[in-house]
Amino acid sequence: MGEFELIRRHFVRPVAAGSAVVLGVGDDCALLRPSPGHELAISTDMLVEGRHFFADVDPAALGHKSLAVNLSDLAAMGARPLGFTLALSLPRADEAWLSAFASGLFALADAHACPLVGGDTTRGPLNICITVFGELRPGQALRRDAGQPGDDLYLSGRTGEARLALAQLRGEPWAPSPVNAEARARLERPTPRLALGQALAGIAHAALDVSDGLIGDLGHVLAASAVGADIELAALPVAPALAALDEAQRLDCLLAGGDDYELLFTAAPGVRDDVMAAARASGTPVTRIGRLTERPVLRLLDADGQPVAQPLLRGFDHFAD
Ligand code: ADP
Ligand code: MG
Repeated sequence: MGEFELIRRHFVRPVAAGSAVVLGVGDDCALLRPSPGHELAISTDMLVEGRHFFADVDPAALGHKSLAVNLSDLAAMGARPLGFTLALSLPRADEAWLSAFASGLFALADAHACPLVGGDTTRGPLNICITVFGELRPGQALRRDAGQPGDDLYLSGRTGEARLALAQLRGEPWAPSPVNAEARARLERPTPRLALGQALAGIAHAALDVSDGLIGDLGHVLAASAVGADIELAALPVAPALAALDEAQRLDCLLAGGDDYELLFTAAPGVRDDVMAAARASGTPVTRIGRLTERPVLRLLDADGQPVAQPLLRGFDHFAD
């Protein structure tokens, strides 16, 4: 099967009427028409075998995740998806693998009305690079530098399960076996929080999606916004699968896990009701987990509001104070 036949068979699909796509796969460029007066939001993420996924991962789950991590970036900006491109490097044209990969990819694309508009296909080590295009109203983007001292700090969903599942799949000694199914689903099929992100545009200040661990990613907001933060550890939602871990390990998953794809965002205390209305309207759990501070350090507070001693926390490069 040649390159063009492979593309035609697996990746060319009719584009739904009413989408922003003027011209999809097949020409030198795709043509998109954003809503009048809107800004484009663009993001790229690459997934490499051995680094971002196991060689034997379910290809349908991989198709889902490849797009999900990109849509998550649009969500974190408050953008609405318009379409995406797919650059694919494949060791061989494996029909069964390709059709499963495409099914996972398109199921998520269809769920968010985000069509595939182009890409590139080449032979090589398995590597998946997606670029997403979205739009939002001028001035409404949820930027990392928009945090204000005194803002509330919120988290969608909960963190840590993907880290647990990864440890279980790798057989790390601390992780109880067997692999927890719910945690594994969080690792392999993350949910991009698109509806929440769009509902927060114009309400929240700063936002990002948590892909490298809550503390590390919060550090990006703090640096960009030149603020600090207090996190109330007791406020962090804890998945049942994490409840059985010892405290240090649980905190490690919650705060430094990675692959969570939850939204971490800030908003003025005056708009708490609006934030919770956005959470309800988007069907997304949201928890207030702390606040931004003038003093540019990150503190973790225990249930009594006292800063937690660092030795309890392992491996936080970004940790201050
Ligand atoms: P060019 O040589 O002009 O780059 P290609 O031969 O690489 O064109 O691709 C032909 C068409 O197929 C283009 O419209 C391109 O966007 C599309 N395409 C190639 N690979 C993919 C893919 N993996 N998914 C979707 N569209 C693809
Ligand atoms: Mg090409």
